[in-house]
Amino acid sequence: MDSTALNKQLFDFLSHSPTPFHAVDSMTALLDKAGFKELDEREQWNLSRNQPYYVIREDGALVAFNLGEEDHNGFRIIGSHSDSPCLQVKPKPDIYEKSYHQIGVEVYGGALLHPWFDRELSIAGRLAYRSEDSSIHTTLIDLARPVAVIPSVAIHLDRKANNEHTIDAQKDIVPLTGLSATSKTSLAEILQSHLQETGIQPSPQEILSSDLYFYDCRAPCHTGFDNDFILAGRLDNLLSCFVITLAMTAAPPAHNFMFVCNNHEEVGSATASGAHGNLLDAIFERLYPEPASRYRSMAHSFFISVDNAHAVHPNFPEKHEPCHDILLNHGPVLKINAAQKYSSTGVSNAIFKMLCHETGTPVQEFVMRNDMACGSTIGPVTSSKIGVAAVDIGAASLGMHSIREVTGSQDPLLMYTVISHFLRRDTLPTVTQACDVESA
Ligand code: ZN
Repeated sequence: MDSTALNKQLFDFLSHSPTPFHAVDSMTALLDKAGFKELDEREQWNLSRNQPYYVIREDGALVAFNLGEEDHNGFRIIGSHSDSPCLQVKPKPDIYEKSYHQIGVEVYGGALLHPWFDRELSIAGRLAYRSEDSSIHTTLIDLARPVAVIPSVAIHLDRKANNEHTIDAQKDIVPLTGLSATSKTSLAEILQSHLQETGIQPSPQEILSSDLYFYDCRAPCHTGFDNDFILAGRLDNLLSCFVITLAMTAAPPAHNFMFVCNNHEEVGSATASGAHGNLLDAIFERLYPEPASRYRSMAHSFFISVDNAHAVHPNFPEKHEPCHDILLNHGPVLKINAAQKYSSTGVSNAIFKMLCHETGTPVQEFVMRNDMACGSTIGPVTSSKIGVAAVDIGAASLGMHSIREVTGSQDPLLMYTVISHFLRRDTLPTVTQACDVESA
């Protein structure tokens, strides 16, 4: 595997994953190709060993797992999230103001709003519609072309724009989608005709509801004189989703492994498909109905929570902890926080460092400054819910939560190398307490 080939696949994955629902679809396409079988939570499961499976929870979450021959050796568990901060379409979206047609939006997650101005925006998501026989069906939709823009205010009309421009999320970021004088077509009508063009079956009679999001339709690319960087939307956290999924497709079937990809991480995770939901617990309960065997398996397991990390920004070095510069293309980042906003501990960090060492992969350590608030991940939530030793790691990135984020062009491959090794390693890494020779 070389980084050019891997990044090409990553770009393709990102382009086909404008929303969490599409991301789950892109992941299952890779899993299907590798022989994973889909399971339905509503059905009884008759599982076979050495046969990988996946389960989708409708709201943008996925769990993939394999029950190998390692019953008492626990699971190699890896986690990520499918959502990214963005603008979500309001339920009654059409606004006709000053001869313009606009679409009302809510801000989803901690989005950086400035970069949303002057972009080629499209709309994607999930629709629920009523078909001819009055049943409800859902389908993914992606308009896949620029259909909107949020124009900046000209500098002549806002002389303080470069010094004190703040953004009113209710008023300033309403996307423009057309001129109402020439067309009063509503968003629902546009979606309806898009569905008709795709020839979807059963044919939709009426769109009942939707989860729709704006996204930047510019394609991911390399940038830098030597192509040192990747520039793309939703790198947090689809880079991790892609790398983990790809690594799983080549994992040995004799090993126990589990991948949980939650939705709603960017809005607090307290949903059925979020890390606070019961998705992972429910699956482990099905695998090990008897609590004692489940707990024994968890005590043997190790969980790697993968989510992007902040690289040092050359224009804002004062935002970063001294002596802890995180660099692009310098390997995965261990994330450490005294308040346990990250699940990493001294022991779990050592295990991850060992995995990096065994593959010759460099590893870095991130800690937030004491005078700045630290973010969090699904790591502490999942680790505390299922009672498993865990570590928080991620690819170094700049501009996190911007509409386009930056990572190093070698970072996906460095991450892939370590995650693959974790899945393939003969045994799960274990830790033994040393004994004092004199007192022993
Ligand atoms: Zn994230």
